[in-house]
Amino acid sequence: MADLHIKLKTPHTGEYDQPTGLFINNEWVRGVDGKTFEVVNPSDETIICSVHEATEKDVDIAVSAARKAFNGPWRKVAPNDRGRMLTKLADLFEENVEVLAAVEALDNGKALAMAKGDVAAAAGCLRYYGGWADKIEGKVVDTSHDTFNYTKKEPIGVCGQIIPWNFPLLMWSWKIGPAIAAGNVVLIKTAEQTPLSGLVAATLVAKAGFPPGVINVISGFGKVAGAAISSHMDIDKVAFTGSTVVGRQIMKAAAGSNLKKVTLELGGKSPNIVFEDADIDNAISWVNFGIYFNHGQCCCAGSRVYVQESIYDKFIQKFKERAEKNAVGDPFHGDTFQGPQVSQLQFDRIMSYIEEGKKEGAKVETGGKRIGTKGYFIEPTIFSNVTEDMKIVQEEIFGPVCTISKFKTQEEAISIGNNTTYGLAAAVHTTNLNTAIEVSNELRAGTVWVNTYNTLHWQLPFGGYKESGIGRELGEAALDNYTQVKTVSIRLGGALFG
Ligand code: ADP
Repeated sequence: MADLHIKLKTPHTGEYDQPTGLFINNEWVRGVDGKTFEVVNPSDETIICSVHEATEKDVDIAVSAARKAFNGPWRKVAPNDRGRMLTKLADLFEENVEVLAAVEALDNGKALAMAKGDVAAAAGCLRYYGGWADKIEGKVVDTSHDTFNYTKKEPIGVCGQIIPWNFPLLMWSWKIGPAIAAGNVVLIKTAEQTPLSGLVAATLVAKAGFPPGVINVISGFGKVAGAAISSHMDIDKVAFTGSTVVGRQIMKAAAGSNLKKVTLELGGKSPNIVFEDADIDNAISWVNFGIYFNHGQCCCAGSRVYVQESIYDKFIQKFKERAEKNAVGDPFHGDTFQGPQVSQLQFDRIMSYIEEGKKEGAKVETGGKRIGTKGYFIEPTIFSNVTEDMKIVQEEIFGPVCTISKFKTQEEAISIGNNTTYGLAAAVHTTNLNTAIEVSNELRAGTVWVNTYNTLHWQLPFGGYKESGIGRELGEAALDNYTQVKTVSIRLGGALFG
């Protein structure tokens, strides 16, 4: 029988304790069906280890544990104490940054420096929501002299949370922070490609003082454990981050079961628009970061670059040079900016989009090929000579691939910027304040960056317009995803006809 903990080594740490079990009720357990699955290192395609797999029965067990905690001790924990636990968890993330970041780099393939940034941002997010826990307030609403009305913001209950593999720890904290601050209990399922860091983070949950059953962490597959969560009759809310295709399935499952509340953070095909008056060198650095950060595996990646025609030729030349300088390689090497794609499946999807782009007649300005023969490394790729109807312009590639084309006027930039079924993010590069504000106002996206890109912050709401999602993560707005309003209306006068 597979162990519940193993000793692992990373190129950055000595041996550390890697849990492999399911974390339910503050205990490490095996799945009822005794299944395990292998975790692959995307840098060299070797097997790192196996972890225990949750199936439907384990989801049931975790939901019962969560329900018991919600109906029992957790209800009585004062908001201030919930906040303290989240703050303590944030401290523990920071104290364990080296291990958490190294596990993330090993399992996901992101560069160690970026992984450390993720840990810092995850801690920031948990601490921020720790601060919110005792500031979630209702209102007194005056309707007449003989009635006293107030509203309360109450937790929703048992929350099922399904997260992706591109920012495993960060998504863990984005989901857990607001849910716990608002007094909910959670069952979180990590992505099957990257279960390891979420399990290490689970070891910190009990240390932070959370009672058993409040935060449960399971590893498992989308079609099994994920589907069991979204169709479960005793889960009150499901929060999902991932592809739009799966988002639709989750909504259907929620609709077909107990009408659980649904929030979704889905895909994108975000425009990155550069006007002729932009500071070109700044714009290039942000356009480069916009698409190649995290190997293009960002739902908000700036994958459609539009440049005003008067500066197009100069821009493309410099952008190409910049992209070719991005250091692609071993996540544990100090200079690395871009590591491997997360899995064989993702690698194959991206390469097939690149082939499709070539077939459709787009020109590869740079990149377009695999790097090496081991690991899922892909060259930073730019396609020019594209038309708006091409697949590579319309569909989310989720890799280090962008398209670039020209526009003439501000109206045209807005119109092509909005020419997508998605609406997660967009950016405008200009030194003209009017242009910045006018274009930002017209772009149908949940976040618009001006002269920057991918600069998310836990204080700022993030989420999608159109088919990019429902609800907002981060900021005060995320608390709405995890609270429901109760109205209490008290009659001060006598009987109705008295
Ligand atoms: P990707 O295609 O990039 O891997 P997915 O949207 O498939 O992204 O996966 C994101 C998360 O959703 C993962 O945790 C995955 O296990 C989960 N998932 C995938 N399919 C389903 C499903 N049918 N129901 C619930 N969760 C799912």
